[in-house]
Amino acid sequence: MVSNKTNFLGKMTTPIVAIIGRPNVGKSTFFNRLLSKRRAIVDPQEGITRDRIYGEMEWNGQNLIFIDTGGFISDDKSDFNNAVRTQANEAIGEADLVILMVDGKQGIMPNDKILAKTIRKTNKYILIVVNKCDEHKSDNLVHQFYELGIKDILPISSLNGRLTGDLLDQILKKLDTDKQKKIKIKPKIKIAIVGMPNVGKSSLTNALLKKERSIVTPIAGTTRDSIDARLKWYGHHINLIDTAGLRKLAKLTDKIEYYSRLRANSAIKNSDVTLMLIDAKKGFTRQDKSIADEVIDNGKGLVLIVNKWDLIIKDSYSAKIFRDEIAGKFKSLKHYPIIFISALTKQRIHRVLEVALNVYSRLKQKISTKALNEVLYKIILRYPPQTEQGKLVQIKYITQVSTQPTIFALYVNNPKKIKIQYARYLENKLRENFDLEGVPVILSFRKK
Ligand code: GDP
Ligand code: GDP
Repeated sequence: MVSNKTNFLGKMTTPIVAIIGRPNVGKSTFFNRLLSKRRAIVDPQEGITRDRIYGEMEWNGQNLIFIDTGGFISDDKSDFNNAVRTQANEAIGEADLVILMVDGKQGIMPNDKILAKTIRKTNKYILIVVNKCDEHKSDNLVHQFYELGIKDILPISSLNGRLTGDLLDQILKKLDTDKQKKIKIKPKIKIAIVGMPNVGKSSLTNALLKKERSIVTPIAGTTRDSIDARLKWYGHHINLIDTAGLRKLAKLTDKIEYYSRLRANSAIKNSDVTLMLIDAKKGFTRQDKSIADEVIDNGKGLVLIVNKWDLIIKDSYSAKIFRDEIAGKFKSLKHYPIIFISALTKQRIHRVLEVALNVYSRLKQKISTKALNEVLYKIILRYPPQTEQGKLVQIKYITQVSTQPTIFALYVNNPKKIKIQYARYLENKLRENFDLEGVPVILSFRKK
């Protein structure tokens, strides 16, 4: 089971991650999603049949073994204590890293606290994984679990795979701390290329890979059924997500649109920045709008790429006309960069990664509270929020509470009274004052 060759972490054995958690939080679902080779070791004891399940997988060239020890846990509190202690201790003894899985939909349960308390006593690295965060909007379910006293908390959905890649990245990062002390590893930038079938996704991928004389490593996805391409570009490590996969599926099935949407969906969710291809000949379609919507809703960086520009008989206004047409059909797209390329003739291919990386650095920026409030003060002075029935609506201050997605919290005496038009005005003004092109912005109005 445990291989003896030295892996890239410099360890002689494959690192082991133990997963503990109450029944029904989704451990088996997680296992089934991630692990290709599974082995259950059934260890019958008097009264209980306890399954210790081992699964092995590979992520970014690194093998990992997961153990699920929580086959059976009684609901009875005293039994729970004993069972947990035994199982947690066993798991922890073997593990390099311990995951406490909890159920985001259910919230904190007393047994989560017991588990947290037991594993906190160890000196292993502990990660709380909040499962069942099936959508972007459920990610704030994580906050309640800070009460468990463990600082690293990540949301995932074992059911649809959301953020499981980020979890694996985080696991590798933590296992790799010794190595990291020596070399500062640049983060991998995940770029998805999406768009309708035949828009030129594969052609663009190939053009990017050839253009940069890159090292292409197709890694058959053990965890996601996709193939990623990696390249190095001016010292940046880039993963191009789901490109070949999209092409393969499109050929295999007649439900082309359905499957490409499904693939695009997971590619978007796994990306930092999404490149969305639009066919110059077809113009900006309803399907394009819904893909763009999805990128923005997921808080991902967005670059619009109009491909097959070679097929357009152009004059100096063509690009502007196209841009205006898009903005006419979907107003907020004026906040995102547009590049006109030809994957075939390689026209402006060199701009693609340059623009994507600029968007990436804006996604990572945290704007200081001071700068934000100076600007907010001026914005409000110019056009204050409307008062309603003699009630004053006051925005007291603004602060950026997160990156990826970029969320600004605005503290207001009466948040419900902020009108959507006013929120849009604020967003536009913030965009005018700060460098946010390509970055979806969420304004969160909170009571103060
Ligand atoms: P375990 O007892 O911890 O191994 O939990 P299971 O994997 O058997 O999952 C318990 C229930 O939760 C099942 O009905 C799953 O379908 C459901 N479930 C697991 N993961 C998720 C998830 O990410 N989202 C949602 N909505 N349900 C999930
Ligand atoms: P995908 O399904 O989105 O991956 O699209 P492909 O990359 O397979 O391209 C579909 C078709 O469009 C192929 O016949 C390509 O040769 C063609 N194509 C792709 N990019 C361009 C382009 O920039 N200009 C022209 N004229 N044809 C292109």
